Amino acid sequence: MVTALRSPVSVSVRAAAKINLHLGVGAVRADGFHPLDTVYQAIGLYDDVTMTAHHHTGIVLETADYIDPADIPSASENIAIRALDLVRAHSGRDGHERLDLIKSIPVAGGMAGGSADAAATLLAYDRLHGCGLSDEVLLELAAELGSDVPFSLVGGTARGRGRGELVQPLDDQGTWWWVAVPSRLGLSTPDVYRHFDRLFPHALAEPAEPADLLSALASGEPLRLARTLHNDLQGPAIDLRPDLGILIERGEREGALRGLVSGSGPTCIFLCDSLDGAHAVVAGLRGAGHDVVLIANGPVAGAHFLELP
Ligand code: ATP
Repeated sequence: MVTALRSPVSVSVRAAAKINLHLGVGAVRADGFHPLDTVYQAIGLYDDVTMTAHHHTGIVLETADYIDPADIPSASENIAIRALDLVRAHSGRDGHERLDLIKSIPVAGGMAGGSADAAATLLAYDRLHGCGLSDEVLLELAAELGSDVPFSLVGGTARGRGRGELVQPLDDQGTWWWVAVPSRLGLSTPDVYRHFDRLFPHALAEPAEPADLLSALASGEPLRLARTLHNDLQGPAIDLRPDLGILIERGEREGALRGLVSGSGPTCIFLCDSLDGAHAVVAGLRGAGHDVVLIANGPVAGAHFLELP
């Protein structure tokens, strides 16, 4: 019997949101770049990308009810289309693909939703067309697209250095429960970095290392982890948006072990001692008027196929 090996008609890839358990920021360099030393964790909030060969390239978008579709560019400014163009050019192929994008990761919230979509697109293209790209090549393409895209491929818990292109998986023994509160109002990442420069004109050249956090992760103990969470952009973000400081205090009063701005914000995240603890924090924050309050556990996998073709 002869079995024909055919390319799949479509490929679906799921990619997770990230949070930063540690974000050390060094002094701005002459080229405008801030060196970073960060610990990422992928958490269970996902975007799904389904790629299908098509007669023209485009995105069909579906969003969770807390996401405004108008916030997501549909054409070439969408990072998923940029990822598609990049991997297509790299593979030397012609043709077009349609992307069906189901978005649940809050937009522009410091949770790397766009990076997740880009990572998912790279993987989907490779599988759809049987390109056979190595992990090294996928990671290189990812780094060209943005500093958080390599981590979106890797997932789990990992340390990121440089511009984020150096991703080192970490020993993480926990199942950590997080509550995430996205913000309706935006907070521009460049504005937060500029404010960091104003607030800390004498910042050290080398970013702070996550020494204690690494052993807390390996211990699996939420209280230990809570004590070691760190974000150098939290002060600047709260200075620009005092409501985030009020939200963090409220979440901690409602029982969270620790609240933190996620990346450059404005999403805030709360580490809880258990799933029950997370439900209690959600109820408390909803009672305080926050209507979008999400629960997710971490670490979860990086970008992965939803079904094998
Ligand atoms: P990071 O944590 O990596 O800084 P973020 O979570 O703050 O990312 P994203 O959700 O990735 O931000 O979106 C940032 C901006 O990128 C949005 O304001 C939007 O205009 C644009 N964008 C482009 N492509 C996408 C996409 N696929 N999904 C969401 N936003 C996108």
